[in-house]
Amino acid sequence: MIDSHAHTNFDAFDDDRAAMYERARAAGVLAIIEVGVGLDGSKQACARAQAEPMVHAAAGLHPTGLDGWEEAWDEFVALFAQTGPARPIAVGECGLDYYWMKSPKDIQADAFLRQLDFAQEKQLPYIVHCREAEDDLVPLLTAHGYARGVVHCFGGTAEHAQALLEYGLHLSFCGNVTYKSAAAMREVAATVPLDRLLLETDSPFLAPVPKRGKRNEPSFVAHTARFLADLKGVDLDTLTKAATDNTRALFLIEA
Ligand SMILES: [Zn+2]
Repeated sequence: MIDSHAHTNFDAFDDDRAAMYERARAAGVLAIIEVGVGLDGSKQACARAQAEPMVHAAAGLHPTGLDGWEEAWDEFVALFAQTGPARPIAVGECGLDYYWMKSPKDIQADAFLRQLDFAQEKQLPYIVHCREAEDDLVPLLTAHGYARGVVHCFGGTAEHAQALLEYGLHLSFCGNVTYKSAAAMREVAATVPLDRLLLETDSPFLAPVPKRGKRNEPSFVAHTARFLADLKGVDLDTLTKAATDNTRALFLIEA
């Protein structure tokens, strides 16, 4: 399996980071995509990828932290000029967040579109964060035209999912799809074709059942994989192989 979205640089892992990677390997996790949150978080993601062979970095300007993003742009772009394992393999997370609404909608859209343009220019995939903003997200993405990415921790409706799949994107589900309250999300997850599905944890957040309430970590992706396999009525190997192949192909990683 590949955990396509985690934040192992967060201080929640300061006390046992090496052991956490070891547990991930023992659980069958081949690689982790460490997703940058803002310029500083993206620098840390690059440093994680430099330090830990199983980690690959993504760098993005998150919609909840856009103050001064235009001033930070050149430094952000410079992250992608690094060489070796520190170089980000994707742009993200970027997107829209109307739950926290830390910046006005038009600023969120500007920063998002600029990052989509940049991803296209660099021919890199992108990782989308969207919270309570799918009605705006779908038309923004589909009008843009560069369809090479994933909407992570997908929480939209079946109609949103259909439009994004038709456009050509991947959808990813994290531990909250296992929660009792997530019946609507499960209905959507059940309809996503195996060749468009990615696995992720979003560690340290949203630990799946039976670890709900605990700190999440990449080894727990196995619980979400098992849950989704049961939901879709396929065996675990079929689901994990599909998700792993999808992740390799989207992010061009060898793991
Ligand atoms: Zn995240």
